[in-house]
Amino acid sequence: MPSERTIPFFNYPALFRQEEDELGPLIIDVLRRGAYIMQGDLAEFETALAAYLGVKHAVGVADGTMAITFGLIGAGIGPGDEVIVPSHTFVATAAAVTHAGATPVLVDCGPDHVIEPASTRRAVTKRTKAILPVQLNGRTANMDPILDIAERHGLTIVEDSCQALGSKFKERHAGTFGAAGAFSFYPSKTLGCFGDGGALVTDDDTVAARARELRDHGRAADGLVRRIGFNARLDNVQAAVLNARLKRYPKMIERRRALARIYDERLRGLNELLLPPGPDADPDHFDIFQNYEIEAERRDALRDHLTQAGIGTILQWGGRCIHQFPDLGLRADAPYAERMTARFMLLPLNLSLSDDDVHYICDRIIAFYRG
Ligand SMILES: *Cc1c(COP(=O)(O)O)cnc(C)c1O
Repeated sequence: MPSERTIPFFNYPALFRQEEDELGPLIIDVLRRGAYIMQGDLAEFETALAAYLGVKHAVGVADGTMAITFGLIGAGIGPGDEVIVPSHTFVATAAAVTHAGATPVLVDCGPDHVIEPASTRRAVTKRTKAILPVQLNGRTANMDPILDIAERHGLTIVEDSCQALGSKFKERHAGTFGAAGAFSFYPSKTLGCFGDGGALVTDDDTVAARARELRDHGRAADGLVRRIGFNARLDNVQAAVLNARLKRYPKMIERRRALARIYDERLRGLNELLLPPGPDADPDHFDIFQNYEIEAERRDALRDHLTQAGIGTILQWGGRCIHQFPDLGLRADAPYAERMTARFMLLPLNLSLSDDDVHYICDRIIAFYRG
């Protein structure tokens, strides 16, 4: 029997249709002006992003991976240094550490799937220079113990906040806790563009100046090449799109939180599931639900059941933590993450979903466990 409806995990065409009338002409306008690289729309977006986050500098770059890399290099992290990274993340986080010339040291996550303090504390050695928390799934970690470890050992913090634009811990934005924060505008991110994009944010003039040089072949504002850099600029067309979307971003987040609230209210009673903390669970946390990542008993059977019902789900990064890619040769102290990878999955959560869609998904999940 065909399923009642189809809810793909992500639906790019549907999302574009919602905005076509606005973004179509806006893109044409940029093209008519011939404003492609390092133009006014980029500068405007950087100013708007910095204002939104309450930071001094935002520097648009090619993607989130470059933003993390430049944050590390900008903060003086390099060869011989160890950087502590949670293993439940995209490989890009560890890659950025390697691109900076440093060594990633992988640690565990906790039941909220972000960096776990005790494991972080155990990983500190004489060579540790930085902690790179990943503000995963739109949740900012409890930063109090992380800041405490950093302070005790004189460590720098650079945040991978690629999944957490607008997320806060104790009223402070993800990406603003340390020397630099990194954001990604990959199309499926909460603030996405039509290709790759990213930004580094910082209050530190030196870090910002280094990032501006690094993204543009090492060239400084006076045109002099100061270092060997990269070609890693944020395209002006993408910046124009991001500018338009940033204006309504707070509303977009509220909608995501409303969808998460439905999942929370409908599924909280099922003891076969571990849900992410609810949107209203703890006043210290403001989560933006980049993803709705659950842990589930009989996960694979549940996924099959949802597929039959026309519902798309995915396992982040193919269902592995980064120390579980044997070819990378990385090791981790991460017992929680290892148990979790047999149980975790993402339910659909994006702005093409109606309330009804989420209720339908919840109905199917409840039917699976309660028959
Ligand atoms: C998306 C993402 C990145 C960076 O992604 P890019 O594709 O380079 O923009 C880094 N870390 C995490 C956790 C991410 O989700």
